Amino acid sequence: MSKGLLIILSGPSGVGKGTIRDAFFNNPELNLAFSISMTTRSKRAGEEHGREYFFVSKEEFKQAIEDGKLLEYAEFVGNYYGTPLEYVEKLRNEGKNVLLEIEVEGAKQVIQKCPDALSIFIVPPSLDELERRIRGRATEPEEIVQQRLAKAAKELTLSNQYRYVVCNDNVQAAAAIITTIIKSHM
Ligand code: 5GP
Repeated sequence: MSKGLLIILSGPSGVGKGTIRDAFFNNPELNLAFSISMTTRSKRAGEEHGREYFFVSKEEFKQAIEDGKLLEYAEFVGNYYGTPLEYVEKLRNEGKNVLLEIEVEGAKQVIQKCPDALSIFIVPPSLDELERRIRGRATEPEEIVQQRLAKAAKELTLSNQYRYVVCNDNVQAAAAIITTIIKSHM
């Protein structure tokens, strides 16, 4: 059995990564597994420990870094996020194509460590549309919304480090393009 692909999916906060992922993830032809990250941010309503993230304290996160347990990690709007290395490797060795949904700094680390990684960046149709989507979520205070918007503008300038850039003006169309990209690398 050949080792599974490492797929990086990035895009600014609010671009609709989760919705697009839901639209292609369960396609059995793609044989995908999701890498569940570790984060120090608090749980949002509806999220579960071990499903969206492993929610940990700053101390636990620091320990994981020191123990070399993370493939990559980054700080994002005041919290840490990282990819557990062992879990990803286990899945890839089982032949699964592993999807990392991570931000740009972490993606840069993975691209350096694993040049074969298949990297995909999702862009919004416009910045105005992105702002509308971030505000539509309305789960966070204005200060955090502002930080996420500033971060989004900065992240968009880094899209050129990815192998593919896909525009999310239509969820089904974006998911279909990503499906084609993944299949072409399998
Ligand atoms: P959120 O707080 O909205 O769930 O995630 C914030 C950002 O962190 C998103 O861009 C998300 O893709 C990214 N992220 C989630 N997990 C990881 C991770 O393990 N590493 C890195 N570098 N970014 C992550």
